[in-house]
Amino acid sequence: MTTSSLPVAIIGAGPVGLAAAAQLLARGIEPLVLEAGPAVGHAVRAWSHVRMFSPWAFNTDAAARALLAAEGWTAPDPGHYPTGVELVADYLAPLAATAALRGRIRTGAKVSGVARRDLGRLHDGAGREATPFVLHVETCCGTEAIEARAVIDCSGTWNAPNPAGSHGMPAPGEARHAGRIAYGIPDILDAERMAYAGRTTLVVGAGHSAMNAVLDLAELAGEAPGTRILWAFRRPLGAVSFGGGARDGLARRGALGARAQALVESGAVTALAPFLIDRIAERDGALAVTGRQAAGTVTVGADRMIVAAGFRPDLSFLREVRLALDPAVEATPALAPLIDPNLHSCGTVRPHGEAELRQPEAGFYIAGMKSYGRAPTFLLATGHEQVRSIAAFLAGDLAAARRVELVLPETGVCSTERAAPACCAPAEAPVAAPVAAPVPVPVKAGGCCG
Ligand SMILES: Cc1cc2nc3c(=O)[nH]c(=O)nc-3n(C[C@H](O)[C@H](O)[C@H](O)COP(=O)(O)OP(=O)(O)OC[C@H]3O[C@@H](n4cnc5c(N)ncnc54)[C@H](O)[C@@H]3O)c2cc1C
Repeated sequence: MTTSSLPVAIIGAGPVGLAAAAQLLARGIEPLVLEAGPAVGHAVRAWSHVRMFSPWAFNTDAAARALLAAEGWTAPDPGHYPTGVELVADYLAPLAATAALRGRIRTGAKVSGVARRDLGRLHDGAGREATPFVLHVETCCGTEAIEARAVIDCSGTWNAPNPAGSHGMPAPGEARHAGRIAYGIPDILDAERMAYAGRTTLVVGAGHSAMNAVLDLAELAGEAPGTRILWAFRRPLGAVSFGGGARDGLARRGALGARAQALVESGAVTALAPFLIDRIAERDGALAVTGRQAAGTVTVGADRMIVAAGFRPDLSFLREVRLALDPAVEATPALAPLIDPNLHSCGTVRPHGEAELRQPEAGFYIAGMKSYGRAPTFLLATGHEQVRSIAAFLAGDLAAARRVELVLPETGVCSTERAAPACCAPAEAPVAAPVAAPVPVPVKAGGCCG
């Protein structure tokens, strides 16, 4: 560690947090990764059974690969689609164990607050921009304060799933019946098989996670008689997008939607579309889910629910940071129009970097899955490009920060619904406003509970 600057704190040791650390090290900047879980890739481990729709070629970061290659790592087959467990075992865990990173990651370290030292959100203070950040970190030893010259929040959204309730709030009864409701993609075919075999499950959501859950339930139905699948959408079926199919630049992602659509069309899955959930109760030992359809209010029975309706960012520990977020998407105002599903259904987002992620709080960034706020189309490759650009900026290399070094695969979906930006237009290099490089602040060693 140099003595001329504090580390850059990275919140979260997921794929993007670890890539951020590798990118910073490549620029000679000291990273400190703070991970709430007991091991790196904590959120990915929760979906370890899910096979990714992007192959290895799109899932690793260049600076991370360089650290791994220096230790004799054999890169996985670029055409193979890893599961979550493979992403951890073959990439994230070896990366975290490299000599370069292993002393720079703290697990069991949950960030509970971020602020400028001695300055609340309201206080301008003299030289706010040159004042170090202070992070409050919950560890087994209690709350610790750690100082940093900059902060990259890569804490993802896995811990904040959207609820089933149609208004964006948990439906009345949703919390009370949480024991029968899974959020995300449960391990239907293995660890949690008994909970779904021979039962009726109501899946809520229209994205790739919901499709994965429906496909797993359909496979289970082929083996376990009596397994029934209800699938609730917010929109009428004609307005549901099942993805770009054969036009999708990621073949597996396209096939996922096509297979899910075929299940609906064959009647193997009962689509409730629209079905806007108002209440969840219990009747005769099963869930009674009341919602609105075109013809009026109906109540359907289900043994279990799987809510795969997307995620939202947890902003609770950022109350003292000056943030500018789009009021709908909860991404930065520069990024939101590129990804807002209200403006376009095109999942093809042009690559972007530091300029689009910059916050009013200089030196603070939200990157990775969380940077997309409530928008559903994030790709790891996008996150890697984000942190490459941020690291370049923090190192004062403004030209590299502005340069786009990524071409994303097309989704094959681009049906504009309103007057919208040309979402399928060829990628343009983002133009960053000219800004000064961040001012390094003096070092102060953080404490250690060990
Ligand atoms: C089921 C599923 C399948 C996906 N498949 C693909 C795919 O095929 N291709 C693709 O490109 N993308 C895919 N994604 C989207 C995205 O790339 C992944 O979600 C990816 O894991 C995001 O990486 P991340 O580092 O931003 O966040 P995460 O992987 O969520 O990592 C965030 C980390 O931060 C930690 N954390 C959270 N809060 C705190 C805190 N307060 N303090 C400290 N640490 C904290 C978490 O424990 C976690 O380890 C998929 C997502 C899901 C959910």
